[in-house]
Order: sequence, then structure tokens, then C-alpha cells
Amino acid sequence: MRVARFALTVLVAATLVAPTAPARAQPAPSAEAAFAHVQHLAGVIGPRVAGTPADRAAQEYLAGQLRQYGYAVELHTFQFPFFETRRVEVAQAGTPPRAIAAAALFYSAATPAGGLEADVVPVGLGQPADFEGRRVAGAIALIERGVITFREKVANAASRGAVAAVVYNTGPGVISGTLGARSEIPAVAISQDDGRRLVEAAQAGRVRLRLLVDTVVETRTSANVVGTKRGTTRPEEIIVVGGHFDSVAGAPGANDNASGTAAALEAARVLAGVPMARSLQVVLFAAEELGLYGSAAFASERRAGIVGMINLDMVGWGERLMIGASPGRDESVVNVAEQVAQRLGIPVTRFRAGASDHASFERQGVPVVFLHRGVDPYYHQPGDVPANVTPRHLAEAARLVVGIVMELAAARAGLLPVRPGG
Ligand SMILES: [Zn+2]
Repeated sequence: MRVARFALTVLVAATLVAPTAPARAQPAPSAEAAFAHVQHLAGVIGPRVAGTPADRAAQEYLAGQLRQYGYAVELHTFQFPFFETRRVEVAQAGTPPRAIAAAALFYSAATPAGGLEADVVPVGLGQPADFEGRRVAGAIALIERGVITFREKVANAASRGAVAAVVYNTGPGVISGTLGARSEIPAVAISQDDGRRLVEAAQAGRVRLRLLVDTVVETRTSANVVGTKRGTTRPEEIIVVGGHFDSVAGAPGANDNASGTAAALEAARVLAGVPMARSLQVVLFAAEELGLYGSAAFASERRAGIVGMINLDMVGWGERLMIGASPGRDESVVNVAEQVAQRLGIPVTRFRAGASDHASFERQGVPVVFLHRGVDPYYHQPGDVPANVTPRHLAEAARLVVGIVMELAAARAGLLPVRPGG
């Protein structure tokens, strides 16, 4: 591990001292070829929820593309906690009952088949002190979003005997949130307006809610698609380029993240013909949306030899390409990316990277760069279709990836003798 990190450090140092190195000819990615992948994944296959037949159809398509470019292809299988919502109904009891828009928090337990009905007890933010003097045993805990995680809120309510938890938003609409693991009691999210109305009503008198939550929480298998191109002189040192290909239920996932998958594929096609000292692994991740499961499995099992990672997520929509690493993490590959972008004339902004597959590699000590263009208006919605993806953005991301990989994967003669203290 240290050897791998060390190699990259040397590379960065050399890049910094020789910024005027002659620009090598770089083969150009095609916007049309990249966009064709988005059309196939989001247009033909559609929503690609991990652990479903669409997930497997996407794996086959991606494996076929990489094989066609000449990569050695394998499916890296892993198990993950599958989650699906079949039905959610929330209503304030009364004549007539008042229906309330709600979504199950990911990994929420189900109610009994006929649902449940109980008194509503508001418990603030759901922190331990908020439960003092409140009787939630046998009741539905009504909790405001914020400060602690959904999981902690729901676990606090369950440990005090609540039969269900309802979390209300701090902004407009019903949020989709995850508990990270199966909860003991059913847990749903509702809007801020509905939440406040229920709090007021519960303070004025007795309020009962009816809840029906039908969810599936079970272990399933999925697979990352891995294409490997062996390095010429330092094959044991690996550069990873990746992006997730799964989507949330109901969203075709064109920008999130057929776009990043397509740009990674197009970069792979172009790089197939470029001899490089280090090995290149193109890893298309499954099960990102439920909790980075594919990349976490890959990064923890295949850490050995990885010297740097490039992640692409949502690169088909938005003003400008952003590059970054998670706050407080190694930025050496971000620095390389910034210099390459400058040399290629690609405008980029540095940012603090949010949650995506690069985080799984950072957790294993791998320096990364995350390429992203920001959240689009159709994020996790049925409107995330190919028509809302800009083909030239895909080509631009692919061009930057090709440049970064060529920089990281090259072991130029001048670099090799440099060793700290030697
Ligand atoms: Zn994504």
C-alpha cells in the first residue's frame, strides 16, 4: 500500500515541477458514442434498481462494450441489503380520514399486512432528551428532520416502545432518506406542512394516525462490471476509473448516472489503444444508490495496487465540470486533474465532493478525484431521461478522464529514479 501511494506522490511532485512538459497527442472521445450508451441504459433498459432484472441487463450491456474494446472483463459479485417499497399509506384517523403524502425511509420495516393505528406523540428532533416526559410506548413518534440521522431518530423511538416513526421534513416536499439498515419499526417521511399540522393538532388534543407500509428488505446479489487493461511496465499498479450504473426506482437515471457510466466507457474505448505503463481498471459500480455497496465491496476486496481513482457521477447536465475529493481527504489526484484540465482547456471548479463511489476508495486510503456537474432538476425523478443530458458534456468529461489517466498511468523515465531520501 505504501509503495502504491508513494508512486503517486512522486508523480504529482514531478507534474508540479514540470508543468510545461510537451502536450502529448490525446485521442478524442466522441459525444455521439457516449450519448448512445446513455440512450441504451436510460432509454432502452430504463430504471436500473440493484438486484432486479434491469440491473443484470445493464451488466451484460456494459460487459459487452468493454469486451468489444479489448478489455479483460469480469463481473465482481457482492451481496447487499435490497430494499423495495410496494405500498405506503398514511392517514389521519377521523371521519373522513385525511390522507397524508408519505414515503417509506429506505430499509423501513413493514407494518402488519392490515396496517396499524396509534396515537401520535411529537418528540422534537428525536434525541434521547426529547423523549423525557413523553409516553411513546404503543404510540407513533412524530419527529422533525435534522441534527441526528434518520436511523438514530427511529432507533431512539423504537427503544422507547414506539410502534412506528414518522419524520417530517424541514423544507418543502417529502424527502427520500435512508436508515442504512433494517429498522425495528416502520418509518416514513412526510412533508414539513403535514408534520407541523400534526404537531399542532397533537398539542391541542388526541390525534391518531393510520399507517400501512409494505416493504421488502432482503439480501440480494449484484455485480460490478470490471474491465482491465494491463500496464506495459508496471502492471501491478492500477488506476481505477469508475461510475455507478444503477438508478433509484422510477427514475431512468440518464444523468444519475448513465452519464458518468457513458463517459467512463467512452474514455475506456479511447484508452484501449494507448499503451500505458500502469494498468487501467474501468469499474462500473452497482448498488450505489442504496448505500455505495458495489464500490465498498470492490474497494475493500481489491485495494491492493490501486494508486488512484477517478469517479464520475452526474456529468451530463449543468453549467460546469467540478472536481474534488471529500473534505479532509488526499487531494493529490485532484491537483493532477486540475493541471490536466488547464492543459486541455477544460474549465473546471474545485468543490467539496459529496457522497458517491469515490468515498469507498478514500476510506481505503486511495487518493481520488470526483467529476460532477451538480444536481439537476430531475434528480431521482421520472424526468431524468436522455433528452435532458447534453452529449458534449459527456465528451468533455471523457476527455478529462483520458487526460488524467494518461498522466497517472504513465511512468515517464524521468520519474522513475526519484525516491524520497534516495
Ligand atoms: Zn449517482
